[in-house]
Amino acid sequence: MFTTLSLRTRLTLLNTTLLGGVILIFGIVIYVLISQLLLSQVNNTLSQTVNEIIRNSKVSNVGELDVVTLPTLELTAGVHIQYWDRTKLLKMSSPGIQNILVPLDPSGFTYNTTVTKDVKLSDIHLRVMSVPLFAGDRQVGLLMAGMNLNLVDSIKNSLILILISVTFASMIFLSLASWLTVNRSLEPLILLTDTAQQISQTNDLSRRIPEELSPEDEVGSLIRNFNDTLARLETLFTAQQRFLADVSHELRTPLTVIKGNADLIQKFGADEESITTIKEEVDRMTRMVGDLLLLAQAESGKLALTSTILDLDELLIDSFQQLRVLARDKVDLKLVEIDQAIVSGDRDRLKQVFINLISNAINYTPINGVVKVRLIKEESVVKVLIEDNGPGIAAEDIEHIFDRFYRAEKSRTRSKSSGYGLGLSIANKIILAHNGRITVESVPGVGSTFCVELPLPGAQ
Ligand code: ADP
Repeated sequence: MFTTLSLRTRLTLLNTTLLGGVILIFGIVIYVLISQLLLSQVNNTLSQTVNEIIRNSKVSNVGELDVVTLPTLELTAGVHIQYWDRTKLLKMSSPGIQNILVPLDPSGFTYNTTVTKDVKLSDIHLRVMSVPLFAGDRQVGLLMAGMNLNLVDSIKNSLILILISVTFASMIFLSLASWLTVNRSLEPLILLTDTAQQISQTNDLSRRIPEELSPEDEVGSLIRNFNDTLARLETLFTAQQRFLADVSHELRTPLTVIKGNADLIQKFGADEESITTIKEEVDRMTRMVGDLLLLAQAESGKLALTSTILDLDELLIDSFQQLRVLARDKVDLKLVEIDQAIVSGDRDRLKQVFINLISNAINYTPINGVVKVRLIKEESVVKVLIEDNGPGIAAEDIEHIFDRFYRAEKSRTRSKSSGYGLGLSIANKIILAHNGRITVESVPGVGSTFCVELPLPGAQ
């Protein structure tokens, strides 16, 4: 049942019950202590009075007890006295109770020691101390000292009333205060729930909850984590949407070309040029699908690397040789410096990276440009540098250069040699999977240098 209540109600109930319980226990303890204190004061007054009377009493020459100075004692204020002789005859009583002819405590006669008891006489509540009086071994009478407990009772009743009212008042106050504080503390949580609800209704992942609470606050840290999750979801969602838009955009162009050429063939019969164009476009699309598959694998952390210990210099020379054909007399492709370096890695994937970087340098460098390739072995890393004196990359493009489908503004116009803007993204993922990194330094109008850094075995 308790769990069906709202958290707010549950916390308020819990707080109120706990604090109310504490106040109640505290009240009971106070009540018991005060009651005992009052009773012990009454008992003290009674026994002091009785002692005083006994001290002021004397035995007559016939062996009877004479009570002498009874009413003059100051201590006896509020205390009523009866003196009974051994034949249970009332010998004397104090002025306030002279009309009472029955013993204050009838059971007092049955004991031969001092007994203190609460008794009800008519409507009067009394505390009575019965003291047997002895002359030598012989009991000569019984002294009964009684004190009206009505005042004590009314103090105790008032105390109960006060304690009950205070408990109730504090419980009402506590429940209100607790409701307000719980409400205030839960406000961010309610905001969080509302925002989550609005997001699921509107699919608007750009919403955030104001981070007003400190990170040490549990709710504050929950909000921060929630906002972080939202930010990550938003990034993923936007990336996914952009990815879909990019893929459909990139597919549309080759498909239009293929469709156009197919129409031509249908109308005028097959010609060599149309068939070649169709084949080229299909090849490009196949490459793109392959690249996308590779990217998807890399992004989900499932890029399979067949790592072996390999001579990186040999691998680089291999890639270099392969690309001389592409450079031909367009650009001067030079292997400037090459150290020997052995690394652990996937031969084919690393070659793919070098070919991508060198062919980019060749493709983006204008005729008569120079592309320099270097392999420098340092203490714990090996660096492959590919430097060109091409157009360079603008600062605003550099930060996106490794994003999927990103192509700097100038290279958007599609040439046969340009790709889909997936090459660098794949290269980056491959090098990251080798625990390395790719960086780029570029000055527009001067050229770019791409640097692949791989850890040397034993240095990882
Ligand atoms: P693409 O298939 O378009 O070459 P990449 O991912 O390999 O895709 O490169 C992304 C973009 O980076 C290119 O479109 C180009 O704008 C820019 N880029 C890459 N290498 C160079 C370079 N050496 N010089 C200038 N721009 C470059």
